[in-house]
Amino acid sequence: MKRVYNFSAGPAILPEDVLREAAEEMLDYRGCGMSVMEMSHRSKMYQNIFDEAESDFRELLNIPDNYKVLFMQGGAHLQFSMIPMNFMKNGVADYIVTGQWAKRAFEEAKQYGTANAIASSADKTFSYIPDCSDLPVSENADYVYICENNTIYGTKFKTLPNTKGKNLISDVSSCFLSEPMDVSRYAYVYGGVQKNIGPAGVVIGIIREDMITEDVLPGTPTMCRFKTHADNGSMYNTPPCYGIYICGKVFKWLKNMGGLEEMQKRNIEKANVLYDFLDQSKLFIPNVAKDSRSIMNVTFVTGNKELDAKFVAEAAAAGFDNLKGHRSVGGMRASIYNAMPKAGVEALVDFMDQFEKNNR
Ligand SMILES: *Cc1c(COP(=O)(O)O)cnc(C)c1O
Repeated sequence: MKRVYNFSAGPAILPEDVLREAAEEMLDYRGCGMSVMEMSHRSKMYQNIFDEAESDFRELLNIPDNYKVLFMQGGAHLQFSMIPMNFMKNGVADYIVTGQWAKRAFEEAKQYGTANAIASSADKTFSYIPDCSDLPVSENADYVYICENNTIYGTKFKTLPNTKGKNLISDVSSCFLSEPMDVSRYAYVYGGVQKNIGPAGVVIGIIREDMITEDVLPGTPTMCRFKTHADNGSMYNTPPCYGIYICGKVFKWLKNMGGLEEMQKRNIEKANVLYDFLDQSKLFIPNVAKDSRSIMNVTFVTGNKELDAKFVAEAAAAGFDNLKGHRSVGGMRASIYNAMPKAGVEALVDFMDQFEKNNR
């Protein structure tokens, strides 16, 4: 068996311990004679898996009692629609556009009401996070929306925007559980799990209880109402059972690693190995302004498209997979999520150093 260093942005690397454990339990989950995949979601056995996953998740993020945790499907993209459908009570929302995912959410919201882009970093190809300390927040905005870690460009909000008292809604898909988070700052925060938590097919939402209402836009499908999921313990219909089970294993792994403060420490260390190399390199150029750099997705270029392609190909041949940048920006991107060991980043830097020597 050969495992590569997988720098994919998502679906992405998972902890090897988790995969091994899941493999061991595949045919016979703890003596019940079947796989978790084959189990009724209404069984006591599965409810235990689910409840434990939720309680470990709440513990990791220290989620206050007045927030509900929802396990849903449809990816971040369905959330782009569910958010305006459920939360646009006045029909007005403000969006901070820091990349393609925020833009998609913004464009989607326009279908349901007035969506305003109150800040954007499109002028410099989304390579920085705009100053959000004093934005023209709309008087009657139902919420202010951000994408907190911009997976494609490698930027991250280091401080949350000043929403001037309005509800903050955040997409944390690619930084979920990478560091502690003050949940009380958000009215609703969510993420698809396939970046840093588990297999594609699960979205986890953390919603403040007063945001769960029956007062949604007319025509909102039953499955698109947060209340449906909240009232039914995320099991109004069949949930993505196996995916949630794997997420639960990742939560246990994170707890064993020492929790999110420890993960943050490790993630910063890992990211610094790469950024320190990039900052002194004469060949590779980091894309992102220093004060906006993500510790999960690191983007860089050589400034020469052919050399970029050569690098990506040679890296893949050497066991560093999925380093090609997103098709919309090109260049390179190393996604170094929780499960990427520091040794993987160090090995990548050694490889880059050698590549630089060979190609200058
Ligand atoms: C990947 C990603 C998305 C899109 O997720 P889907 O599950 O494909 O809908 C949205 N937002 C962020 C921040 C992402 O990283």
